[in-house]
Amino acid sequence: MPPSDTPENTTAPGVEGGSAEDKLIVFDQVVKRFGDLTVLDHLDFSVAPGERVTLIGPSGSGKTTILRLLMTLEKITEGHIWIDGEPFSHMPRGSGLVPASESYLRQKRKRIGMVFQQFNLFPNMTVRKNIMEAPVHVLGLSRDEASERAQELLDLVGLGDKIDAHPTQLSGGQQQRVAIARALAMRPEILLLDEVTSALDPELVAGVLDVLREVAETTDITMLCVTHEMGFARDVSHRVLMFDKGQIAEEGHPDQIFGDPREERTKSFLKSVL
Ligand code: ADP
Repeated sequence: MPPSDTPENTTAPGVEGGSAEDKLIVFDQVVKRFGDLTVLDHLDFSVAPGERVTLIGPSGSGKTTILRLLMTLEKITEGHIWIDGEPFSHMPRGSGLVPASESYLRQKRKRIGMVFQQFNLFPNMTVRKNIMEAPVHVLGLSRDEASERAQELLDLVGLGDKIDAHPTQLSGGQQQRVAIARALAMRPEILLLDEVTSALDPELVAGVLDVLREVAETTDITMLCVTHEMGFARDVSHRVLMFDKGQIAEEGHPDQIFGDPREERTKSFLKSVL
């Protein structure tokens, strides 16, 4: 049931290649500024349910800001974000739209999980407790149900025997796999991944990417992924968006972007990372 404080006078815009209702996420002319710095510049893109989209591009091109907007960690300056055809943003003043309330956004946010570069596990809690906290406190699961879910997910990420360990007893790669299990424990519809392997020693990267490949293959979760792991992006994504200066410089199927990039900016970026 939609929350009672759903903004009413809002209609999602049409989207090329289908109506907005077919799209899970729509960015419509989104502008994000920090002071004088324009980080996202009238950005338009949409993501279909179940689609896996990778965001690539030079550092500072606005990729992480997109994920942070979806986590409601930042507010947009202009434009709109829609999820399932419903507003998902603090509507800017003067837009003529009713601003979404905090409680409405919180409801919608439950459908979105995020894994960060830094794993951010609670060091004083066991792995089990780290995973159980949000399902118990946010979704209202019983402790038994949440514990069972934690065990299933730890099995999925290959850490079934670490359920009673503390994060400090685990390697960085194992901690990141726990962070993935923790995000999945909320059964999100959308999973946001922000450079999840960048803080890891090189020998630990493959294990984490294998887990994410498994998640991609065995679920229909919608993924938005910022990564410098181009092999992973090529294997897992349906579509790649190449960002430059807060705009999409080029987008396409991974085979085209990586095999036959058309834009000079894409070519020089790929040369710098491959
Ligand atoms: P990317 O993920 O592509 O590296 P980001 O989205 O992290 O890019 O950042 C885009 C730009 O926005 C950068 O120039 C960054 O310094 C700036 N930026 C990000 N967050 C803030 C903030 N909270 N305050 C000021 N500038 C910010």
